[in-house]
Amino acid sequence: MRFTRRACIWLTLPLAAMVGSVTAAAANPKVVASFSILGDLVNKVGGNDIELVVLTPVGAEVHEWELTPNNFIALEDADLVFYNGYQLEQWMRQVYATVGNRAPLVPVAEATEYPTRPIVTGEYTGEPDPHLWMDPRAVAAYMKVIADQLSELHPEAADNFQARAAAATETLARLHEEIGELLAPIPEEQRLLITTEAAFVYFADAYGFRHDGVWGSNAETEGSPQQVMRIVDLIEQSQPGALFWESTLSDRYIRSIAADTELPIAGPLYVDSLSEPDGDATNYVAMMRHNAKLIRTALTMGEAEEREAEERDTEADAVEGEASPEGEDAEENEAPERDEAGDE
Ligand SMILES: [Zn+2]
Repeated sequence: MRFTRRACIWLTLPLAAMVGSVTAAAANPKVVASFSILGDLVNKVGGNDIELVVLTPVGAEVHEWELTPNNFIALEDADLVFYNGYQLEQWMRQVYATVGNRAPLVPVAEATEYPTRPIVTGEYTGEPDPHLWMDPRAVAAYMKVIADQLSELHPEAADNFQARAAAATETLARLHEEIGELLAPIPEEQRLLITTEAAFVYFADAYGFRHDGVWGSNAETEGSPQQVMRIVDLIEQSQPGALFWESTLSDRYIRSIAADTELPIAGPLYVDSLSEPDGDATNYVAMMRHNAKLIRTALTMGEAEEREAEERDTEADAVEGEASPEGEDAEENEAPERDEAGDE
C-alpha cells in the first residue's frame, strides 16, 4: 500500500469515512489518472469507492512528464488507467508498455466524442487540441465516461458513481453559466486572450474570445525567435488589454514580450495543472472560477479606467450644467451692465 498516503490527498473525506474505508479498501479498485485536473474529476465520481493515484504531480508539465519509479509501480498495480488523450500525454507509449492488456486504458477526452477544435499555431496546427476540459460542458461528458468506466470495473458501487456524476454534471452546468456572467462585462474589442501555450481554444470558443499563444502546444519547440516574432506582430496589430502567463510554464517569454509591447501581464491562469493545496485552483471548479475572475479583471482594467474618466467627465459636465444657467444669467445680468458701462 505504498500509495495510500498519496491517494488520500485526493480524497476530501471526513476522517471517520477514511478510517471506515480501510477495511473496504481491499475491495476497492486501484485507479490511475494521468494528471491533477483529470484526477480531480475521477475523484469526484469515484469518491471513497476507488483508490486513486495521479501520475503528473501538481505544478508539473503534463505534456512532457517523465514517469517516476513510483509512477511505474502504480501502473503495475492499476486496475484502470484514465488519461486525456488527443496526444496530451506524450509519454503514453511507456504507460501502454507497462500496463499492457492487463488493465483498461481509457482516453477520456477521446471517449467523450465531444467535438474537437484544432490546435491554432505551430507544428501541430490543425490536429485536435487536447485541452477540452477548459469547457465545463465537455467536462460533463468526461464525467459520464468516467462513471461508465468505473461502473463497469466496480459494479457494486455503480449507483454511487452514477449519482456522483449526475451531481457533478449539475455543478458544471451552473459553473458554465457563472463563468459566462463573470466574463460578460468584458467588451467585444477586449475579448482577446493571449497566453504562452495556446491552450484556451475550447474556453475561447465557449465564452466568445479570440485566442492565440506564443506556441500552439507544449509538445513542440517552445519560444523560438519565429514564434516570438509572430506573436509580437499579432499583439501590435490587435492591441490586447493584457497578456497572460500560466502556472506550469516559465513566464519569461510572456514577460519579455509584455515589456517589448508595453502591455500589462496577468496570471497565473491554470490550464494543465491544479494549484498547490494553498493556491487558487485546488479543484476543477475553483480553477475555472479563478481563471474567469483573473481574465475579467485584466481585460476590464483599461475599460474601468476609461469608465472612471468618463464618469469624471460626466460629473464635470453635470457641475458645469448646474452652474451654467446661473453663469448665463450672470452673464446676461452683467452684459447690460458692461453695455451700460460701455455706453457711459
Ligand atoms: Zn497544455
